[in-house]
Parts: sequence; structure tokens; C-alpha cells
Amino acid sequence: MTSAVHETAAHDNTAHDNTAHDNTAHGNTARDKTVHEVVNPATEQVIAEVPASSPQDVDAAVARARRAFPAWRDLAPGDRARLLRRFAQRVDEDLEHLAQLEVANAGHTIGNARWEAGNARDVLDYYAGAPERLFGRQIPVPGGVDLTFKEPLGVVGVIAPWNFPMPIASWGVAPALAAGNTVLLKPAELTPLTALRLAELALEAGLPPDVFQVLPGQGAVAGARLVEHPDVAKIVFTGSTAVGRRIAQQCASRIIPVTLELGGKSANIVFADSDLERAAASAPYAVFDNAGQDCCARSRILVERSVYERFLELLEPAVAGVRVGDPAQEGAQMGPLISAAHRERVASFVDDTTPIAFRGTAPDGPGFWYPPTVLAPIAPDAPAFTEEIFGPVVAVVPFEDEADAVRIANDSPYGLSGSIWTGDVGRALRVARAVEAGNLSVNSHSSVRYWTPFGGYKQSGLGRELGPDALDAFTETKNVFIATN
Ligand code: NAD
Repeated sequence: MTSAVHETAAHDNTAHDNTAHDNTAHGNTARDKTVHEVVNPATEQVIAEVPASSPQDVDAAVARARRAFPAWRDLAPGDRARLLRRFAQRVDEDLEHLAQLEVANAGHTIGNARWEAGNARDVLDYYAGAPERLFGRQIPVPGGVDLTFKEPLGVVGVIAPWNFPMPIASWGVAPALAAGNTVLLKPAELTPLTALRLAELALEAGLPPDVFQVLPGQGAVAGARLVEHPDVAKIVFTGSTAVGRRIAQQCASRIIPVTLELGGKSANIVFADSDLERAAASAPYAVFDNAGQDCCARSRILVERSVYERFLELLEPAVAGVRVGDPAQEGAQMGPLISAAHRERVASFVDDTTPIAFRGTAPDGPGFWYPPTVLAPIAPDAPAFTEEIFGPVVAVVPFEDEADAVRIANDSPYGLSGSIWTGDVGRALRVARAVEAGNLSVNSHSSVRYWTPFGGYKQSGLGRELGPDALDAFTETKNVFIATN
């Protein structure tokens, strides 16, 4: 356990008293909870109990992070880099353990979970290269010398969702630490285990106490306090658009920067001149990966009308072939949904009147299973076609020509990712430029590389994570003019 978690546990009594007070003040029974039961979504068994941070726990952690900030900021760049590299190395040594934790906590397939732990390692390793390269500029001016400095912001709050706990936490934590900030990570209620383990690994790697702390707890309690705390200088939030909008408003009222990674309803656009077999064979994995609980899920498949029927014929066996089952088994391709409540929400998009073209399989028995589901034909205003379902449900619609494909793709409040399948490189570039989304792939479904920028257009987010520019989100630019005469 990290020092932060020990503190939280040690302060349980205080937390209780204050929680009771909060409860009265806000009339919110959820605030009674001081411990959160962590459930394996594949078995429905409780696998751990994690203390939920109270607002007072958050305040104490912010105070510690603030005290730890000057020394971390002033550490020689090479030393900060070395500590981050050691942190990455500890993650690598613990990779299998982290992956198994995520299989048990989030129902991720073991293959995915290993990739996710590896991604957290790589993101730490990549930004470990940053401290020595946080260059300012020397700008020509008359009468003196003008210099710019990249300075850290102070205490940064990172609020993560349950769908990719490790990667998304690391995308905020690693560049923030590299730039010299201290960091508080609030994992999602449902998935705190890998975040807590990352905090332990950071300490084992030699990061000073309180430079990186994890605050498990409820969004409306611990998350909300982090956002409103006057000593928190920046918020990185990944989650639903509704909560993100509220957090952006709160950050606006405090005039602090915020990075938002929010929802999506991305299009997979398949032209008749594409390699249709490849497009159909890969389409299920672009939406059913992580049981569709992926902000980049290509949950709208747009197919040129002349090949629409043929595409559906090819898609059906591809969907039937998705191996859904025990996520701990090597080779599993899709696990359960995260919770019973989430399964109910996903199911609410598919009722007796919804046109189901075909479905894959899902196990019976315990676990929050939901089969891969393909909807067609579907009305353009059906909620299953317009809203983010965040589950293994995809709708397939025909389009007439390039302009029509772009029109349908852009007819969404979201703009996170998307794919374009075509054999015509000119068309690939035209459509990629015309689709209003932050992360597009041609003849592929990849969205995330730790060294390229990631983020959304429109209501999918604000700002960019990953890649070379993410450090700008965790620094202020200071300009200094020195007169020479
Ligand atoms: P959520 O918005 O309910 O919660 C996200 C996080 O915010 C959790 O840690 C939660 O505890 C916290 N939170 C909730 N209310 C809060 C409040 N009032 N103040 C502060 N923090 C609060 O989202 P979720 O259900 O955990 O995640 C699913 C959503 O995340 C989906 O909509 C998905 O598209 C989105 N997502 C987006 C990206 C992206 O990069 N764009 C990545 C992953 C997930």
C-alpha cells in the first residue's frame, strides 16, 4: 500500500464523521460509503475492499502534494528522468501481475491487459526522456536577450475512467510528473486496483513520497473535491461527456486549465474499392474490443451501397468468430461488461423493436456478459445509431458516395476517431481531412500510439494527450527579458 492509502485508512474515523456531515449537507446517500467493494465482472465475486477517500482525505493529500512540489520541481532534470525510467522498469517487472489484476478487476482479456500494462510502461519511459528536453526559446529582441522557460503548474489532478484504467492514468500522470508537477490520481470507483499498484511501484522505484498519490473514491466526493480544491492547478479528466462538461465549467470558474477526453461514436467508413474481406474481418475488433467499452470504438459502420450486402455477408462469420468468454484464458477476445448496471444500460439500446442483423455468442451464468450485436437496417435517428452505447453493439448503414459518407460520419456531436477503408490514396486523404475527428486510420483501426497525439474534436474532448506536445498541457510558459545595456 502507498503512503496515500495508509493515510486514507488511518483517517477512516475522521472520514466517517465528515462523510456523515456531507451526507446531511447534500442529502446524498452515496456519501455514506467509506469502503468500496471491488467486483470481478466475469464472476460477480467481491475481490477486494478499497477505502473511499473523503473530501478531508483529498485535502490532506493535496497539502502533501503541495509540500512535495518544490523539491520535485527543482530536482536536476537527469535525476527526475532517472526516477521515471526506474518507475517504467518497475512497471515492466510487475507487468504480469498488473495484467492479472486488470483481468480480475475489469474483466479485460489477458492479452489486452498485458498490452495495457505495457502501454503504461512505455508512456512512462517515453516521458522519462522529457525532463532534459523541456526546452525554452531564445527570441531575438532589441536591447537585450529574451528567454522562455517551461515551468510546471504545481499539483495536477488526474481523474480516470474504468474502461482503460492503466493506460489512461499513465497518459496524464507520466507527462505531468516529467514536467515537474506532483500528481494526484483519482481512479474510477469500479477499477482502483491497478492504480493503487502503480503508486506502490512508484515508491519502490524511488519517487519521493507524495509526488504521485492515488486517491480511490467516488467521483461525486473525491473527484469533485479534487476539481474544486484551490491548490489544484490543473485537471486531466477522462470519462463521460456529461461529467466532463461539469468539470470544464468548474475549472473555468477557477480559471485553471483542463484536458478532457470524453465520449465517441466513431465511424468505420468502408468504400467499394477497399479490400472488403480485410475490412469485414477486422471490423468486429474495432468495436467489440474491450467489450465495446472503448471511447474509440468504431460503433457506426458506413458501407458504400454497392457492396453493402456483400459486406454484411462477410461480417456475419467474423462476428460469430469473436471468442467471448473467461478473460483470463489465453486467446480470449472479449470479456464481460464492467458491471450489472452498465449491462442494463447497454441492453436498453436493444429492445424488441431494434433490428438485429445477427449476433455473436456470450457465456451463460455469472458475469456481466453481453453478446456482440450487429444492428441493421437502422433509422438514422435511432438512439443506438446516434448515442454512445459503450458496449458491444454496432450499427451498419449504407452510403451513396464520398460526400454522403463524410456527411454521415460528421453527423454526430462526437469526433474522437474513425477508420477509412479504400484502395485510393487520394480518397483516403480527402476523407481523412474531411472527417471531424482527432484520430483517424486508413486501412487499419489503430488509434493510440504513445508517441503520437491523441484527443477529440467537438464534444469528444479538449486538448491532446500523448506524443511530443502533451508536456505543453502541464507547463506554463514564462518569458524573461534581460536588458543588455
Ligand atoms: P464517468 O464520467 O462517470 O467517470 C469518469 C471518472 O470521473 C471516474 O473516476 C469518476 O469517479 C469521476 N467522476 C464522476 N463524477 C465526478 C464529479 N462530479 N467530479 C469529479 N469526478 C467525477 O465515466 P465512466 O463511466 O467512468 O467512463 C466511461 C466514459 O468515459 C465513456 O463515455 C467514454 O467514452 C469515456 N472515455 C473517453 C476516453 C477518451 O479518451 N476520450 C477514454 C476512455 C473513456
